[in-house]
Amino acid sequence: MRAKRSGRRAPRSGDPLWGALAGISGAQNLVAEASRLEEYSEDMAGFRATPAIVVRPGSEDEVRRIVSLAGRRKIPVVPRGAGSSLTGASVSKGAVVLDMRRMDAVLKVDTVNWYVSAQAGITLEDLNKRLEKDGFFFPPDPASSSICTVGGAVAEGSGGLRCVKYGTVKDWVLSLRVVLPNGKVASFGEPLAKNRAGFDLVHLMVGSEGTLGVVTEACLKIIPIPAAKPKRLLLTFDDWRSASDAISQLKASKIMPHMFEFLDRETIQAINKNLSTSEDEAEATLIVDIEEPSLGAATEIFERNGARKVVMAKDANEEEAFYQIRSMAYLAIRGLGKAVQVEDIVVPVDRLGEYLMKVKEIAAKRGVKILVNGHAGDGNVHPVILYDEDDKKSRAAAFHAFEELCRYGISVGGSITGEHGVGTQKAKLLREQMKAHEGEEALRLMKEIKKVFDPEGIMNPGKYVEAA
Ligand SMILES: Cc1cc2nc3c(=O)[nH]c(=O)nc-3n(C[C@H](O)[C@H](O)[C@H](O)COP(=O)(O)OP(=O)(O)OC[C@H]3O[C@@H](n4cnc5c(N)ncnc54)[C@H](O)[C@@H]3O)c2cc1C
Repeated sequence: MRAKRSGRRAPRSGDPLWGALAGISGAQNLVAEASRLEEYSEDMAGFRATPAIVVRPGSEDEVRRIVSLAGRRKIPVVPRGAGSSLTGASVSKGAVVLDMRRMDAVLKVDTVNWYVSAQAGITLEDLNKRLEKDGFFFPPDPASSSICTVGGAVAEGSGGLRCVKYGTVKDWVLSLRVVLPNGKVASFGEPLAKNRAGFDLVHLMVGSEGTLGVVTEACLKIIPIPAAKPKRLLLTFDDWRSASDAISQLKASKIMPHMFEFLDRETIQAINKNLSTSEDEAEATLIVDIEEPSLGAATEIFERNGARKVVMAKDANEEEAFYQIRSMAYLAIRGLGKAVQVEDIVVPVDRLGEYLMKVKEIAAKRGVKILVNGHAGDGNVHPVILYDEDDKKSRAAAFHAFEELCRYGISVGGSITGEHGVGTQKAKLLREQMKAHEGEEALRLMKEIKKVFDPEGIMNPGKYVEAA
C-alpha cells in the first residue's frame, strides 16, 4: 500500500501520532497548531500545501525513528531546510515535515584532506563563516546562502554566482549519511579525494529533492581562500547580440571568469527604482570577475564587441556595490509589487543571445512582462515573469509564457532547470525534456530507482521523477 496523501488533520496533544513523535523528539520540538504550521505551508515561490505536523529532530537517531514510524503508518515524510526552494519541492499536504535546522553542527574541518563534515541543517553562510577561520571556503554560493541549508542545497544540487568557475554543489560532495525510507541509516561515499568503489550513490542523492531519503550529514570538499582576488568589471551593451557575442568569445578565448552574470534593462530599472541606485539603464549589463593576467585580453574582447562602458571596480566597496546589483535583483523585482515567477532555464552558452531575444518575443506575444537576469558563463537564464495574481487572464498568460520558455529551451538543446530543480512545478516538463533528448529509458530507470529506495512511496511523494 502506498502512502496516504491527503485529508490528514493536524494531530494534537493526545493524538497517537503526536504522542509518538513527542516521545521521539520532545513535545517542545513539534509544531501542530494551525497558526505555526503556516510557516511550513509555503515555499519561497508561493507553492502551498499544509503538512499534518512538523518535527524538529535533534539527532540522526531521531530522524531514523521518525522515518520508521512514518513508514509503519504509511504517512508521507518531507525533509525540509529553510523552505527556500522555488518549485513546490518542500511542501506536502498531510505530511510529517522534518525541519532539519536543529542539526546544525560542524563535525570536522580537515585542513590536510580538505573537507568539512557537517550536519544537514547548518546554513551555507554559517558553514563558510566557520571555514574562514581556517582560511578555507565551500565555493557553491546560491543567492539564498544566508538561509539555505547544506541538506537543502545537496538535495537541490544548487548553483550560484561562482559556479562558472567552481561548478555546482554536485561537484563538491564526497560522502553523505542518509536515513532511507525503510528507516535504515546508509553511508554513501568516502571522504577521499578519489574513490572508485561501487555505483555513485552520492550523486544519485545530490539533486534527489528529498524523494530518496533524508540527508543527516554531508562531507563536502573545501579549498583554501585564494590569496589574490580577481578584478570585478561592470559592462554595458546596447543590444543582446553584441553582449552574447562578447560572452561566447570570452569563453572561446579560454579565459576562466570567477563570476559572469547578466541583467537586462528592466531589471536595472527595477534596481534603480527600489534600491535608490543610478546604474546605466543599458539594454544589457554584464558583471564579471577576471584574474589580473587575463584582464587586458578580456577588456579587448568586450570593447571589440561593442561594449559602451567597461568599468573596473576601484576598491572593495565598489566591488561589493557591483555584486549587490546582481544579488539584489530578485528583491528589487519583487518590490515592483506584482506577482513574480522566477524561472531557471539553461541553454548552451553559444545559444544564449538567441534565447534572450526569444524571451522578449514570448513576452510580447503573451502580453506579459518578463525581466531576465542570470549566469552568463553557464548559459543559465532566470526569466522573471510578472503578472497580476487576481486576474485570471494574466495568470494564464504567465503560465503559457513559462511553458513556452521551457519548451524553447529544450528545443535548443537546453534544460528546464540548472539550479532550482523540478518539484511539482516542472514534473510534466521534465518528461518532455527527457523525451526530446532521448532520455525516455533514463526516466524509466529513474522511476524504478525511486521504487527501490522507497517502495511504500512515503518520501516526499507525488513530485519530481515520480510525477514526470
Ligand atoms: C531569494 C532566493 C535566491 C535563490 N538563489 C538560488 C541560487 O542562486 N541558486 C540555487 O541553486 N538556488 C537558489 N534558490 C533556491 C533555493 O534557495 C535552493 O534550492 C536551496 O538550496 C534550498 O535550500 P533549503 O534549505 O531552503 O531547502 P528546502 O527548500 O527546505 O528544500 C528543498 C528540497 O530539498 C529537500 N531537502 C531539504 N533538506 C533535506 C535533507 N536534509 N535531506 C534530504 N532532502 C532535503 C526538500 O525535501 C526539498 O525537496 C534561491 C531561492 C531564493 C528564495
